[in-house]
Amino acid sequence: MKRQADRVAIDTARVIQSAAPLLAALLVSSATLVFAGESRPATPPKPGSPSQPESKKSSTVEERSAQELFRGKVVLLRDALARRKVDAREEFDKQVVLETPAGDLIPIVPDWRGRAFFQDERLRNRDVELIGKRQKGVPYLQVLMIFTFDGKGKRQYMDYYCDTCAFPMYEIKPCECCHGPIRLRFQPRDLPDYIKAKLPKAGGPVGQ
Ligand SMILES: [Zn+2]
Repeated sequence: MKRQADRVAIDTARVIQSAAPLLAALLVSSATLVFAGESRPATPPKPGSPSQPESKKSSTVEERSAQELFRGKVVLLRDALARRKVDAREEFDKQVVLETPAGDLIPIVPDWRGRAFFQDERLRNRDVELIGKRQKGVPYLQVLMIFTFDGKGKRQYMDYYCDTCAFPMYEIKPCECCHGPIRLRFQPRDLPDYIKAKLPKAGGPVGQ
C-alpha cells in the first residue's frame, strides 16, 4: 500500500514538473493579454485566429523611453494645408496629420494603430492625446495609444471592441474572432505612469 502511495506521489510530482512549462506559458500569455491595449500585434492577424498582441517589446524600458505624448487634433492634411494657404492636390487626400496647439503638423503612419485615423472620421477634429514615437529624421508619428476626451473633458482610452468575443481591436474591420461587427469604445483611463513621469506637469489639459 505504501509503495502504491509512493508511486502516486512520484507520478503527481512528475505531472507537476511536466506542467511547469505549460503553467509558465499560461502566465506569460495572460500577462500578454493585460497589455493588449497598448501593444503591437506580434504578427499580422491570421483569418479566424485572434492576434495575440506582443507585450515584451513595448513594455521594455528601452521601448518606453522612446515613447512620447503628443497633443492636438488629427485632421486631414489638405484641410490643414489649405488653412495655411498651401494648395495640395488629391494625392494628399487620405493623409491625416496631428495638428498641435503650436500649429505643427505631424503626419501619422497608417499602421496597426494609426490607421484608425484614416478610417474613422469620428476620431478626427477633436482633442486627442497620442502616445507614440518618431525616429530621428523621420517626421511620421507611429501611434501606440489613443486618448480622446468626453463632453466633460474626461480622458478616454480609445479602441474598438467585439462584445460577442470580448476582444479589443485597433482598426475598423470585422472581428478577427467571430467576423461580426465591432464598435468604437471609449474607456475612462489615465495616462500610463511612464508617460506622466516625463511630463512637466502630470496629466495637464490638452493644449497646454
Ligand atoms: Zn467577435
